Amino acid sequence: MNRRELFQTLAAGTAGATLLGRDVLVAPLSKTKGPGTTSFSTQVRRLQLRHTWTTTMSSSSYRDTLHTQFTREGITGYGEGAGIVRYQQNALGGQKALEALQSVITATDPWGFEKFIAELDHLLPGQRAALAAVDIALLDWICKKLGVPIYRFFGLDPADAAITNMSIGIDTPEITKQKVREAEDFPFLKVKVGLASDEATIDAVRSVTKKPLRVDANEGWTSKEEAVRKINWLESQGVQFIEQPLPAHMLEEARWVRSRVHMPIFADEACHSAADIPKLRDGFDGIVIKLDKSGGFIEAHRQITVAKALGMKTLLGCMVSSSCTITAAAHLSPLVDYADLDGNLLISNDPFTGVTVHKGKLILPNTPGLGLHLTKA
Ligand code: MG
Repeated sequence: MNRRELFQTLAAGTAGATLLGRDVLVAPLSKTKGPGTTSFSTQVRRLQLRHTWTTTMSSSSYRDTLHTQFTREGITGYGEGAGIVRYQQNALGGQKALEALQSVITATDPWGFEKFIAELDHLLPGQRAALAAVDIALLDWICKKLGVPIYRFFGLDPADAAITNMSIGIDTPEITKQKVREAEDFPFLKVKVGLASDEATIDAVRSVTKKPLRVDANEGWTSKEEAVRKINWLESQGVQFIEQPLPAHMLEEARWVRSRVHMPIFADEACHSAADIPKLRDGFDGIVIKLDKSGGFIEAHRQITVAKALGMKTLLGCMVSSSCTITAAAHLSPLVDYADLDGNLLISNDPFTGVTVHKGKLILPNTPGLGLHLTKA
């Protein structure tokens, strides 16, 4: 399909979603039959959090994520995207954007996915999480059709799957301690900081465990001097590395900070695509890749490749998601230095089973595609 045909198909597309307001299913399954036996459907699922999740950006007891199903020739590929508040995305907005493109998606040749995802990226401005929901579903479908797990499609060894940390959101010292105890099986913890309570948070964690820590400030410190002061203190607290201490646009200040601390610094909010990475090289030691942020497998793989070529470290992270996205990311994890793939462990109503974790080690399913099983319709 060329660009003109793509837009003509788009013009004939459908749109519209009705909010049901139910706890788990907040938007109806929408389904349009495409040519032949192809169908593409979207659904917003409400994922209930085990603990209220707080970062510098938001606090909530649930998260809504956008789920997709691409069905052709009797095979269904599953996808998911978690809209990122930082980029003004949400599940219903992503669903609406995909519904408008349903006829485009059902008309596509999934085997030409690289070109198609690039075209879809142009048609979904600002909706990379929704793009990820399509990209993941197509790769799941392709690998099911080929009869191989996704890690094998990328030429990876499941024995090299990463060890994930467990994340501890910002909370009171007592609940922080409880969360640390609940994460007993994990060899590393990732602690969210970036507020005035940082020292109390780290003190609470350290009162329970001596495990190596990773911290994520989520752009929470507003001056380079504050960032250096806090990082120097964290260096005395057994912290391995930090994500995004300063706001994403402060690249000059990031270079200033990096020259005054020893701890490796990762860019998360400052890194959206592979094209961003060269300019981050002086201010950061590594980048954080997320399928929701990159728009799926293809761009995530590209970011990992570019970062490695520039001698930078790679960390595969996630949003709060079901086992769909987390399993998808886990299939790429043999490629990266570090993993923060615990978003499915933070929820209590996961609609899928897929990747499992043993003492932090990601255990990849060895069945075709993502290797998911649907536990809830
Ligand atoms: Mg981060």
